[in-house]
Amino acid sequence: MKRFSAICVTKNEDLAFAPSKMTQMKSTATAHITCDLAATRKWVCECESCREVRSLTGIDKVLAVRPLVREIEQIEEQLRDLPEGAERQGLRDRYLTRYDILAHAMAK
Ligand SMILES: [Zn+2]
Repeated sequence: MKRFSAICVTKNEDLAFAPSKMTQMKSTATAHITCDLAATRKWVCECESCREVRSLTGIDKVLAVRPLVREIEQIEEQLRDLPEGAERQGLRDRYLTRYDILAHAMAK
């Protein structure tokens, strides 16, 4: 995450949103993308965060992360069926790692 100095923030104050809000929007949109692609194979959410991130990120990048989203979806399914234990813990770690990669890919 980039840190913005007070000077930068003042310079950029004509932007529609502050950097922290953008970060928040991206994480909201990333969660919505994951849900949407899992449910419908398309990113259909029309909330403010998704519309904003979609216009900034571009649909190409969203399509590029689809294999990652599919993997997250598959791990979620496996997690549902797995009892608590070492195997489940390992899978959950993998899930969180994939989620981080997805969030970073979207934030680029
Ligand atoms: Zn949304």
